[in-house]
Amino acid sequence: MLRCFEDLASALAPQRCPGCGGRGDPLCPECLGALTPPPPAAPPAGIERWSAAYADTGAAREIIARVKYRNARAALPWIATATHAAAVVLGPSDVVTWVPTTARRRRARGFDHAELLARRVAQMAGHRAVATLDRLDDCAQTDRVGAVRRGGPRLSVRGPAGIAGWRILVVDDVATTGASLSSAAGALRVAGAREVVAATFARTPLRPAGPA
Ligand SMILES: [Zn+2]
Repeated sequence: MLRCFEDLASALAPQRCPGCGGRGDPLCPECLGALTPPPPAAPPAGIERWSAAYADTGAAREIIARVKYRNARAALPWIATATHAAAVVLGPSDVVTWVPTTARRRRARGFDHAELLARRVAQMAGHRAVATLDRLDDCAQTDRVGAVRRGGPRLSVRGPAGIAGWRILVVDDVATTGASLSSAAGALRVAGAREVVAATFARTPLRPAGPA
């Protein structure tokens, strides 16, 4: 009930730009114009190709934080449109999937933002969205530091997924180290996926292209 009330309140309130606090739907023209393209970066292990809509800075970072931590889901369609546009350059896939958030966060937020985003992107692309992955750990990536975080979440492919031979698009909001995408790709490939590509709304410049 509270969530319904919050949804109603946020639907009736004027949209505030997450970048500057001015009026925006969801971003004001100035903050929209200030978004920067994602930094070039080699895809993480197991991911054939990847793309992102924006660099993970400024208003792009703030709008994701609002959806994740303040339940501002009104921005999701816009985020999905941008993510879908980024995914188009990767070519057609058989299905769209996502890295599930931890059970703890899902309980706390009442939704899995990655799933909501992936389902919307799939709808726009005319693909099926399939829950292919289960999370074996319950530790959010942002709760981790350094070396542990680079290891990525422990994932397994759902038994009846039947993904052999598929080209799979993994959708996520932000790629930071790419560890989550890499974990997903590893599990999906072991289960027979032909190719795994990834599209994210934002990307953090931690993996510069070129020699390591
Ligand atoms: Zn603004």
